[in-house]
Amino acid sequence: MTGDIGSVGNLPRWVSLVRAPNPGPMTLDGTNTWVISADGADGVLVVDPGPRIDEHLEAVARHAPVRGVLLTHHHPDHAEGIERFTELTGATVINPAPGGSLRHGDLEITTLATPGHTADSVSFHVDADAPAVFTGDTVLGMGSTAVLWPDGNLGDYLDSLELLERQGPIPVLPGHGPIRDDCAAAAAEYLAHRRQRLDQVRAALRDGASSAADVVSVVYAEVDRSLWPAAESTVRAQLAYLSSRDGEHIRPADGWAES
Ligand SMILES: [Zn+2]
Repeated sequence: MTGDIGSVGNLPRWVSLVRAPNPGPMTLDGTNTWVISADGADGVLVVDPGPRIDEHLEAVARHAPVRGVLLTHHHPDHAEGIERFTELTGATVINPAPGGSLRHGDLEITTLATPGHTADSVSFHVDADAPAVFTGDTVLGMGSTAVLWPDGNLGDYLDSLELLERQGPIPVLPGHGPIRDDCAAAAAEYLAHRRQRLDQVRAALRDGASSAADVVSVVYAEVDRSLWPAAESTVRAQLAYLSSRDGEHIRPADGWAES
């Protein structure tokens, strides 16, 4: 799998993919490690070195010299390999602060604060002849992402999706799965999905669901059971969100956290 780019779609010419061999229910085909080269740049940038799997990190390191690493968020499947990768290449994390940017050859890369999946999730907008945005786990190449309460926050996540929707019809280079052609359309689809789920959670509560696990068994009935723990985190995020918006319908989130 390492280095396979056969199934991801049409990449902008300034980026290549090294996919980590860590497939699973949460990681789809494995973590996408992205390598950014650019005309006039001194070395490459790496987005998310991925898990600590030596053969993967060595495959990424073959693109050396590496100017620096950009990290979308702290989850191990994206960030765990950073120490080993620094040993291999000398490169360290050089994320611009949210709102800040760095120039890489003829590319301008700007950090977008996109919390929600985790509190520290960011995306990277690349301004170029062929622009694109790296979204980590905030928007995936297929399916939807988990909002992992309490680190994740659904209100923040909805705001982040609206920010990504405003990036326009540019390609999404996600943390897992194939690229998506249109960031605005993907973000709109995710927003619609989230609102539909919230409606389903409200309905489950009206029908008597009395714990997060109850809600999962109703709202996520069609989802593979291996994903139910993540779904339960997302339900807790949904319940916390609903109790902050229309609290008369449900108990405080703290009560739910114990159930
Ligand atoms: Zn993640």
